[in-house]
Amino acid sequence: MIQQTLVVIKPDGVERNLIGEIIKRYEDAGLKIVKLKMMQTNDSLMKQHYPHTDEYFESIGKKSAAAGDNITDFIAQGRKIVSSLVEYLQSGPVVAMVLEGEEAIPLVRKVTGYTDPATAEKGTIRGDLGEDTILKANSEGRAVKNLIHASGNLEEATAEIKLWFGLI
Ligand code: ADP
Repeated sequence: MIQQTLVVIKPDGVERNLIGEIIKRYEDAGLKIVKLKMMQTNDSLMKQHYPHTDEYFESIGKKSAAAGDNITDFIAQGRKIVSSLVEYLQSGPVVAMVLEGEEAIPLVRKVTGYTDPATAEKGTIRGDLGEDTILKANSEGRAVKNLIHASGNLEEATAEIKLWFGLI
């Protein structure tokens, strides 16, 4: 099925001059850019973009444990990370785009790679180009810099494209 999905190159990707390299990897995978803009995010957009629910906080907290951190309260850990994530996305300009193609949502996730660059597969964007790790980020009390946001599923993609591109 042909799908559309949202990709955001986070401030570290823009800062490190990786916009072209990142876009090339998606295009090489057969995806088409149908919308594209560079912008500065704000608190309101970020709070709507990232779920502020215990379920989401817990899933994020568990990723710290999976990376080897000794976490007992996943929700508290996740809440702290999401708050620093909202700041990280506002720390510089980002590039938002809508990509289209056959099974674009899972394809983009595959090309992007796992959340933690330390364990993201080689050949993925985060695995090849990511320099930060969850363990390092958590020891400094912040979200991991991993270059990309990519919608996780159809429901997220639909809501996120509407949120980021609205009527454009
Ligand atoms: P993904 O972006 O891979 O879909 P999530 O939706 O779980 O991952 O998390 C959103 C973002 O929060 C991640 O891209 C990453 O920047 C950050 N993040 C997630 N989990 C952690 C963690 N345990 N420690 C630090 N940062 C995290």
